[in-house]
Amino acid sequence: MTLKTIPVPPGIHTNTFVLGSGVLESLPELISLCFPGKLPWIVADDNTWKAAGDRAFKLFEAAGMKPLKPYIYPGTPRLHPVLGYSEELAKIMPEDCVPVAVGSGVINDLVKCASGIRNVNYCCVPTACSVDGYTATGGAMTVNGFKTTVQCPAPYALCADTDVLATAPAPMFAAGFGDLVAKVPGGADWIVADTLGIEPIVPYLWNLLQARIRSWVDDSSDMGKVFDGLAAAGYAIQIYKDSRPASGCEHLISHVWEMEGVQYEGEDVSHGFKVGMGTVITTTLFEYVINHSFNELRPKMKPGLDRAGREAEIASLLVKGCYGDAAAATAMKKFREGDALAERRKLIESKWPELQTRVKAQIIPSADVKRMLVEAGCPTKPSDIGMGMEQYLHAIRTAQLIRTRYTLLDLLYETGLLEDAIQYLVARI
Ligand SMILES: [Zn+2]
Repeated sequence: MTLKTIPVPPGIHTNTFVLGSGVLESLPELISLCFPGKLPWIVADDNTWKAAGDRAFKLFEAAGMKPLKPYIYPGTPRLHPVLGYSEELAKIMPEDCVPVAVGSGVINDLVKCASGIRNVNYCCVPTACSVDGYTATGGAMTVNGFKTTVQCPAPYALCADTDVLATAPAPMFAAGFGDLVAKVPGGADWIVADTLGIEPIVPYLWNLLQARIRSWVDDSSDMGKVFDGLAAAGYAIQIYKDSRPASGCEHLISHVWEMEGVQYEGEDVSHGFKVGMGTVITTTLFEYVINHSFNELRPKMKPGLDRAGREAEIASLLVKGCYGDAAAATAMKKFREGDALAERRKLIESKWPELQTRVKAQIIPSADVKRMLVEAGCPTKPSDIGMGMEQYLHAIRTAQLIRTRYTLLDLLYETGLLEDAIQYLVARI
């Protein structure tokens, strides 16, 4: 069997990526090619074992590869990405094996971190087209109760069989689509930072993901295309060593809800659903910028706070205490007052028309993005996941605090327009 490989960009840790219908059958060939002499060690859960693990094990046996005894987590309750589980996995990982992560984002992240701890390469066999994290560096983990990204290398090889991906529950694919559409306003945030000279766009990485994003999101039923797009996002993150190319304030809003443990009908709301809702929010806020001239908005601009006032504002936004110890300090790091704030507002004013043009060319209009998300089966408004308006809007104000990455939220905050822009959004939910 010839491997159905998809080219991977040079300079990343991932060496080989196979994608297509029936490619699971070529897994033994992929493992022999990428990990010569290593014994496959499958890590799965009860569900993903049934979806692909069992078949992979039998294929390894038939190929005479002597697979090691698999490690299978229970299918319920839902597994969570806790660093302690990765440390356990690393401890029991057999010598001279190639870990084969058969599962969705959580299993992949657990094996990714465990492999990182042991400094071995691993193979990822995704069973759901649900996140962009499969090909990214680092794992989304809970450490001491806080969600964070633990640094570890991306998979060395990936085997994404679209027939396997198609067996995952429909909401998982919808979530993957949500995470892919979110790259569009994420790219617009990079345009904001680039236009203001804060974080220049890297053309090669822009072309790898953003220049091709429209072609990947134009059909929410094409699993191969969506997975390909999610994989490209992961590569861009690997190369940039930061999620900037694929993530903006829609992800920051989602992080706030993640830290608050947002649930619907007793289950955590998926990452893709949260960033999909974040996408609707930030797209609408971008339209606020596009649809108003700077002069039109000038009377609505609030004066900046002094340091003590800002500290008090931050403390009241973080009052739930679930946002990590560093949030307040991170927010103060980018705080501007007096001349520094006046200078920033001048810069934003001078760049406003250019920003409007560039952002307009990047974003998908909010009416279209809502329709696309609804068609894919994603929530678009707070009531879709039983969320109250207060929690919904609080996340927008708080998302601006938690990272130093410059986004639209910083631009709106610095110009004193964040509250007016939020009212613009409220009128359009
Ligand atoms: Zn994401």
